[in-house]
Amino acid sequence: MSLKITHLGSGSKGNATLLSTDNENILIDCGFSLLQTEKKLKSIGLEGGDISAIIVTHHHGDHSNSAERASKKWGSELHCNIETAIKMGWEPINTCKTFNNLDIVECGHNFSFIGVPIPHDKADNVAIITNSGRGEKAAFLTDLGESTIELKKYLEGCRHISIEANYDQKKLFMSSYPESLKRRISGRGGHLSNFQTGKLLSEVMHTKLESIVLCHLSHKNNAPHLAESEVLYHIGDKYNGNIAISRQIGPEFSHYLGQQDEEKIRVL
Ligand SMILES: [Zn+2]
Ligand SMILES: [Zn+2]
Repeated sequence: MSLKITHLGSGSKGNATLLSTDNENILIDCGFSLLQTEKKLKSIGLEGGDISAIIVTHHHGDHSNSAERASKKWGSELHCNIETAIKMGWEPINTCKTFNNLDIVECGHNFSFIGVPIPHDKADNVAIITNSGRGEKAAFLTDLGESTIELKKYLEGCRHISIEANYDQKKLFMSSYPESLKRRISGRGGHLSNFQTGKLLSEVMHTKLESIVLCHLSHKNNAPHLAESEVLYHIGDKYNGNIAISRQIGPEFSHYLGQQDEEKIRVL
């Protein structure tokens, strides 16, 4: 079994990442409108009915927006942890399947993942760790104020890491945002800065890490070249893989586990 990773888009206006195995498609987060999500899927030759399961990482709208409607319309399983189900008002069993953090969760036809808790703004947010079926691990994590010892343990050995690089410290502190908001974004429950992301990646770096996708860049307080250069400053001399940025508009590229270079998606 192989795993193909396609970011449909990432940022404060919506997040969705498509994981495709040989026989099914899974969405991590469904934060765009239903119409937008279906358009994005159509641009790569898929339709809603092709999605066997949707995993929602936490209750914030940019991750959960159309998940329930999509699940009902497409007949896809909807997975989240208990806290997220409560916050969304989703009824376990009837509306969604709830999982316990750190358990191995079977979903869709033949897919499994682990939700690892990460600190974020009154949410029970999780990083998603999965593998290709051949033992190659991949990690997907956005919306966390800081890393944890537990998370680092799960990131070790991953061949692919999609991780947020939300803001550039200087840009955020110089911005017109109120002080309270600046503190919230940069605090323990907020988001990772480019600096924190670079540092975390340097701590879990290993020779078999093939691809990194930087996600959830703030439109106001970051820029792709800043995120990439800061992260490369931390990992550059140790890392030989591919680095890409998932912007709000997507899909733009796919990564395959076991293959370093990204494959560009031709816009139809
Ligand atoms: Zn969030
Ligand atoms: Zn978010």
